[in-house]
Amino acid sequence: MARLFSRKPGLANHSRELDVSPTSQGPLPRSASMNYNAASWVIATAAAVVALAAWWETRKARQAAEGSEKSAKASAEAAGRSADEAERMTRIESDRLRDERDARHEALAPVLEGKVTIDLEGANPNRLGLFGWITLARTYRVQAEGWTGSALTPTSGLPVLLHAHTRYKFHIEHWPNGRTKPQTQELRFRFWPPVADLDDTDAWTCPCHRPSGETMNGPGHWEVRVPVEPPVEPFALFS
Ligand SMILES: [Zn+2]
Repeated sequence: MARLFSRKPGLANHSRELDVSPTSQGPLPRSASMNYNAASWVIATAAAVVALAAWWETRKARQAAEGSEKSAKASAEAAGRSADEAERMTRIESDRLRDERDARHEALAPVLEGKVTIDLEGANPNRLGLFGWITLARTYRVQAEGWTGSALTPTSGLPVLLHAHTRYKFHIEHWPNGRTKPQTQELRFRFWPPVADLDDTDAWTCPCHRPSGETMNGPGHWEVRVPVEPPVEPFALFS
């Protein structure tokens, strides 16, 4: 029986071994805990610094991108303004040159020395003719026609080239006995500058782009109309 109540030494020892010191399972010593917290703080701070640096770089990159986008837009706008300005200057220059050409064209227009004189002439009172006389201040090629109200009739007697300061006579229409007023209502002159290879004169040119007079078939470079007034007392020549 004693055996039943005896305590096995092993159990007693075991019991003693289980009686471990509280220090083996409690909180860390104060110094170790501080080290651990400091390390965590350092890691957290380093992570925050890295995050901040990354954010800063991203922000700089975004700002740079926005900056270059703005810069590109500004450059495009400046280029557009330059193109508009260049176009405006080209238009102004083109208008100026056209105005200069037109002014030169006007300055070169035929100027009469005196009026175109129109009168009856003829040795025989029954075979009179209506004639005109013209003197120009500059040398031109010329074509002259009479307008009757329904048809153009060429005049006769004028050379192709009218030299400056020279009086030229030309025939407008026949004047049968008994006629009291001309059939021709107006004279239509077409003028061109002389043509260098064709005309025996010091050729000159007009800088505008209106017709030149090589053939004299088309429109004149300048055109002048002169009304034909009824001659006053046609028979006075022979009174
Ligand atoms: Zn001209």
